Amino acid sequence: EAPVEKHEYQAEVSRLMDLIVNSLYSNKEVFLRELISNASDALDKLRFLSVTEPHLMEGASELDIRIQIDQENGVITLTDSGIGMTHQELVDSLGTIAHSGTAKFLKALKDSKEAGSDSNLIGQFGVGFYSAFLVAEKVVVSTKSPKSDKQYVWEGEANSSSYIIREETDPEKFIPRGTSIKLHLKRDDKAFAHPERIERLVKNYSQFVSFPIYTWQEKGYTKEVEVDEDPAEAKKDGTDDNVEKKKKTKKIVEKYWDWELINETQPIWLRNPKEVTTEDYNEFYKKTFNEYLEPLASSHFTTEGEVEFRSILYVPGVSPMGKEDIVNPKTKNIRLYVKRVFISDDFDGELFPRYLSFVKGVVDSNDLPLNVSREILQESRIVRIMRKRLVRKAFDMILGISVSENRGDYETFWENFGKHLKLGCIEDRENHKRLAPLLRFFSSQSEEEMISLDEYVENMKPDQKDIYYIAADSVTSAKNTPFLERLYEKDLEVLFLVDPIDEVAVTNLKSYKEKNFVDISKEDLEIGEKNEEKEKEMKQEFGYICDWMKKRLGDKVASVQISNRLKTSPCVLVSGKFGWSANMERLMKAQTV
Ligand code: ADP
Ligand code: MG
Repeated sequence: EAPVEKHEYQAEVSRLMDLIVNSLYSNKEVFLRELISNASDALDKLRFLSVTEPHLMEGASELDIRIQIDQENGVITLTDSGIGMTHQELVDSLGTIAHSGTAKFLKALKDSKEAGSDSNLIGQFGVGFYSAFLVAEKVVVSTKSPKSDKQYVWEGEANSSSYIIREETDPEKFIPRGTSIKLHLKRDDKAFAHPERIERLVKNYSQFVSFPIYTWQEKGYTKEVEVDEDPAEAKKDGTDDNVEKKKKTKKIVEKYWDWELINETQPIWLRNPKEVTTEDYNEFYKKTFNEYLEPLASSHFTTEGEVEFRSILYVPGVSPMGKEDIVNPKTKNIRLYVKRVFISDDFDGELFPRYLSFVKGVVDSNDLPLNVSREILQESRIVRIMRKRLVRKAFDMILGISVSENRGDYETFWENFGKHLKLGCIEDRENHKRLAPLLRFFSSQSEEEMISLDEYVENMKPDQKDIYYIAADSVTSAKNTPFLERLYEKDLEVLFLVDPIDEVAVTNLKSYKEKNFVDISKEDLEIGEKNEEKEKEMKQEFGYICDWMKKRLGDKVASVQISNRLKTSPCVLVSGKFGWSANMERLMKAQTV
């Protein structure tokens, strides 16, 4: 007998286990989803590593997940032929919080307690491996990593703060590679140990797993056998004098046990888009990215020709909880596959520019090598082409939201990702044409609802050449600025740039549909026709006041001038033609502090 080691759970795990066992009653069935997803991850890891280390596959070449159900004793055993765990990996993985989703769950649970709401969080987040204890009083994990020559057993119980690890010594329990998880169900949860129930859960929760999932099932087939005819029967048809015994065929059902495949393993992105419903796409999204909100939009496409790849992209729905860090996005939003082998979700930056880092999706390429690395991606011409196509598709998808009947969708989008697109105006000159129509601003004629540049242009006066804007820190301060007086009078619309990044974005764009963006706070703003006679008169009459003021103010101003831009205010401070606008100066100051 190998010695038994006792280990204590990390404090968070103990807390979580306590919660799982004592208070999370609803949605217990997610345990299966979590265990299957771990099995699928383990198979993915093995398949990926075996590309460069083929010997890892030795001993068991099938990559699959098998579920055995012992109805009588209420035991479910889930076995995968994946990467398994070494002794150290067991301790690291099944005694601490490894799962980012679990950490998210704990945080959300805390937030929801504070907010006093009682939402069904466990179904939304899942708690990874520990969700086994939603239904099991005892869990036994037996695992064999190809990196270790020993197989180890982990055992934990529902109401314990510790678990044990020992070496497997019973040859009957040896597996060539992978992990087998045995759940001894709680008395009230034994009903889960039913083949139909399990099959239903797999169909419900794990339909996007791309490895075969089998259950061990009793089956039957009917066969025909020849039997001697019953002598009583023979009598009835009045053939007693016939001594020959009659033969008769009879159908009987032969029972046997076998593995039954219960899932479809073709990845959703390989299916024909015509046969995939919006619900399928949304489900896939939620399961793949651990999201509980529906996406705002999705796009499924194949590109052929020079570079071949398939992809499904999503614009996430947005939770009030998590706005992303726009400058340093830590995303894992793009899952890269090569010929259906999952490679990594760490290459977002290589496949999308930073400002589109909020886009989620899967990309499956046939042209990249399986052992692709970041260095290869960065050098690759293929990736450059893919990136271009992906960006274009992402824009199409966003444009789709912007023209949807439901204006609210784009408002939600804009509120959450508008900043990203403005950052795009600064960082991605090449896509200005795609970015500009997606921008939204308040204006002097639309203070409540944001408008697009197209709407602005449509509303331009026949002789208006430029797009006017004023940058300020709020709509209220924008509309009270004296610069607006003449434009109001002439009924000219002015965009209110109230987000600090707005002005930088617009100055980067320079123009839209050949109309320049013009800052109405800059000197020598010209609106409409000039009246030279009048100007001359004014200069004669007020010139000396200007000189006097300039003398008094000295270096504080560059110059004092007569202007026709005001209506009721006596004077206004403007920026020089080539200088920073007042708003930019504010920004610069804010940055140097
Ligand atoms: P996550 O899957 O998000 O990492 P889990 O709590 O579900 O978190 O699992 C914790 C860790 O346990 C996994 O990251 C993995 O290292 C390990 N693990 C769980 N199940 C298996 C398995 N079937 N085969 C190999 N490793 C596993
Ligand atoms: Mg997991």
